[in-house]
Amino acid sequence: MANGTLAVRDLSVSYGRAVRALRGVSLDVPAGAVTAVLGANGAGKTTLLRAISGTLPFHRGAVDTGAVRLGDRPLVGLHPATVVAAGVVQVPEGRRVFGRLSVEENLRAGGLGAPGRAAAVKAHERVLELFPVLAERARQRAGLLSGGEQQMLAIGRALMACPSVLLLDEPTLGLAPLMAERIADTVREINLQGTAILLIEQNAALALELSSTAHVLEVGSVTLHGPSAELAASDEVRRRYLGVGGEDDEGGDDSAPPPSLERWVG
Ligand code: ATP
Repeated sequence: MANGTLAVRDLSVSYGRAVRALRGVSLDVPAGAVTAVLGANGAGKTTLLRAISGTLPFHRGAVDTGAVRLGDRPLVGLHPATVVAAGVVQVPEGRRVFGRLSVEENLRAGGLGAPGRAAAVKAHERVLELFPVLAERARQRAGLLSGGEQQMLAIGRALMACPSVLLLDEPTLGLAPLMAERIADTVREINLQGTAILLIEQNAALALELSSTAHVLEVGSVTLHGPSAELAASDEVRRRYLGVGGEDDEGGDDSAPPPSLERWVG
């Protein structure tokens, strides 16, 4: 499996040759790191993951210009299964699992993307250690699991393919706070075990807590990026994404982020 930084460079994407959903987006997910992308509805977050995972054609979308690489391997234009085999696996938004199949069958389906049988067996052990409830429910139909358990299964199925980079699309969306916290803890654990993560989240507080670097996406462009701790402390992010007033609310100038945060225009 290829290792190295997942690099997105100057990526522009449209749907149906008409709707420009991403414009010149660049970001890195270094090996073993967590990089977050924040943004409001429609900013282009899911589109970014589709472009990386090779699934844009299923949505009538296409990469217009730019590149996605894992290490020195170009990913744009590859079949989604080849992207999985290269080590980049997406967990789609909305806990998509095969509802009529059992939990175990869902995991086995994920294991088809593993680099070999021994790797799949090891991945299976890892998944059941991370999510013991999936062992308890192995024979149950996935469609009967709770929302949180379906999210665990969706992540578990992706891990069965032994990714070096996991693409997570809003993993806590719609979950009760306690379950969201459990999923967040597991994301942390998965990363500590060495898997790099590109985390898309509307829950900015959580995303900034879990990641080392974050990017703010607005209408298809990265408008701000930098170390997550510094973004979390910036007035602009606090006001717009964390719902907290900045310290200099009265006449404060949020056009001047700290020097380590880079504002991208264009
Ligand atoms: P959300 O949080 O609501 O999922 P998002 O940040 O993930 O939003 P995208 O779903 O990537 O945003 O959408 C970016 C833009 O592309 C939006 O304007 C959206 O309407 C458009 N778009 C997304 N999918 C398609 C599609 N299949 N065909 C046409 N336009 C699309």
